[in-house]
Formats: sequence, structure tokens, C-alpha cells
Amino acid sequence: MRHASGVTFGGSDLDRSAAERRDAAALAGELAAGAGILPVWRGKPLVAGDPAEGGCRLALVPAGHGVLTAAEEEPLFLGRIEGAAIFAQDISGWEPQEPVDEAQIGAFLDPTVQRHPEAGDGTAFRELRAVMTQLSARDAELAATARALLNWHRSHGFCARCGAASEIAEAGWQRRCGACGAHHFPRTDPVVIMLITRGERVLLGRSPGWPEGMFSLLAGFVEPGETIEAAVRREVLEETGVRVGAVDYLAAQPWPFPASLMMGCRGEAVSDEIEIDPEEIEAARWVSRSEMLTVFAGTHPEIRPARRGAIAHFLLEAWLADRLD
Ligand SMILES: [Zn+2]
Repeated sequence: MRHASGVTFGGSDLDRSAAERRDAAALAGELAAGAGILPVWRGKPLVAGDPAEGGCRLALVPAGHGVLTAAEEEPLFLGRIEGAAIFAQDISGWEPQEPVDEAQIGAFLDPTVQRHPEAGDGTAFRELRAVMTQLSARDAELAATARALLNWHRSHGFCARCGAASEIAEAGWQRRCGACGAHHFPRTDPVVIMLITRGERVLLGRSPGWPEGMFSLLAGFVEPGETIEAAVRREVLEETGVRVGAVDYLAAQPWPFPASLMMGCRGEAVSDEIEIDPEEIEAARWVSRSEMLTVFAGTHPEIRPARRGAIAHFLLEAWLADRLD
């Protein structure tokens, strides 16, 4: 797909400088010289600007800054921007003064913001999904990388082989176990998400717990030992009973909620009848191209579109505009 990199989190060719991850002394020197660190609180990056007004960007601070006081682990090295090293650091241990609504944190879309008294005016910790379409491609890649990596460290403190506590290595790109010597690498889970069409109709589904009326493309995890194409056909058959013939890859989207790589595909259905698996989805339906135009215009009586910034929205928009090539 020619416009594949236009998807949110589609990448900015960030220089990840992987060879430098082993040079802890050089990276410590960069930090001492004032390299930028992105503070991340419970998965939410520090953002400058208000999404209601547009133009959000990541807010970086130098090592030793008051915002980083609650950090329990070292900063992780994300890469270089125009030669300057960029890091991220987890400050999830910080307790905001205003009460935290735990039910909202981790909700479908956390609407709460947290302002740190030591951070600059106009900055706040914000849910990445709430600002993702406003960030530059570079900031989006940095934020997605930081969120996915820090989340992995928070949930992988112990060795999966022997159970002993493990330690951060390679500037955040590994964990090592001192007890058994195992090396563990940050996890990314492959997910297929598919634009299934039959003539001028597209197959949409909705999962329990989604906002009312929201329908999107079907998606599911690729299983061990399975190809992308087979995963597309299996998931569609399992969830809706529809059989799929030809499958093509279109575009990918890193989706750090918490650690997926969405692999966008299109597939041609070879059967019509829908029989949903209620364990997997709540509803599925065929939607015509003209109906889909009214969904995107916000005038469809029942269906709300996939959220802007999600690859489902990107692929459906491209399908409507005949830009899947
Ligand atoms: Zn171990």
C-alpha cells in the first residue's frame, strides 16, 4: 500500500542507534549533558498543549528534573533525533495530589489528565490515544516505543525461565536474569486486522464493552505456527462464520495498548452468511459502501465509525477513497 506510513504510529524512521545500547558509559554521559527524557506515568506520556486546541507535543525534561523524582529505574534509550539522544523514564510511583480515578485509568479511553507540580505550565500526563492524532510522526513513534517498552518492564520483573528477579540491560532493550543467565527481549504481539469485502460491502463487527454503536474491522491475535493469511481466514471464520479467499497485506501499525503490532490486511469473502460466536464478538454485519459514507459523515442511524488514529479507520477511509493500492 503506497500510503501505508500515513497511518498513526506509522513510523518516522527514528534512528534507534541499536549498537549504542551496549555503551552504558556513553549514554550516561549524554544524560549528564542534558539529553531529553520523556517522563511516562502509568503508560501516559507527559504532553505539552491541549488536545482541544490542537498541536500537542511530547514534553521532555533533563536528568535530575523534579518530575523524575519518583523514578525507580534508570531511563531507557529510545534513539536519536538529529543526533540528540532521547530517553524515556517511568515515574508510575508518583502520586498526584488530586485523587486518581482508578476506574478511568485503563478504561477504553481514559479521559483524565494529571498535572505534575514540577512540570512546565501547560503540560500534563495524557492518555496516548487522546493525543495520538495530534502528535508529529516523530513524537508518535517515540511515545509508542516508550509506552510499549516501559509497560513491558513493569510487567516482566521476573525471569520467565526460573522466576528470579531480572534486571534491565542494553539501555532498556533487554532484561537479564542473574540467577540462570537468560536474556529476555521486549515483547510485541502480532495481531491481524482485516478489511473483508464482498463486492461493494465490508464486514464489520463490535466487541462487548465498546462505546455504543461503534463497529470496526475484525481483528485477532496470530497464533504460534500460523501465517498472517491463515490467521485472517481463521479469525473471520471463528467470529462470523464467513469464509475468506484471497488475502493481501496492506499496512502495519504499532499499537502500544499494551504491545501489539496491527497487521492490516484485506481479504475477499467467498460466503455471505453471518453466524457470530458470542464468546468473541457481540455483533457483525455487512455494510455497503454508500452506507459506510454516512457512517464516516456521522449521519448513520446506528453505526459509529472506528476511532480516528486506529488502523481500522485508516483502512476503511482508504477503501472508501479507492486508495488501497
Ligand atoms: Zn532466570
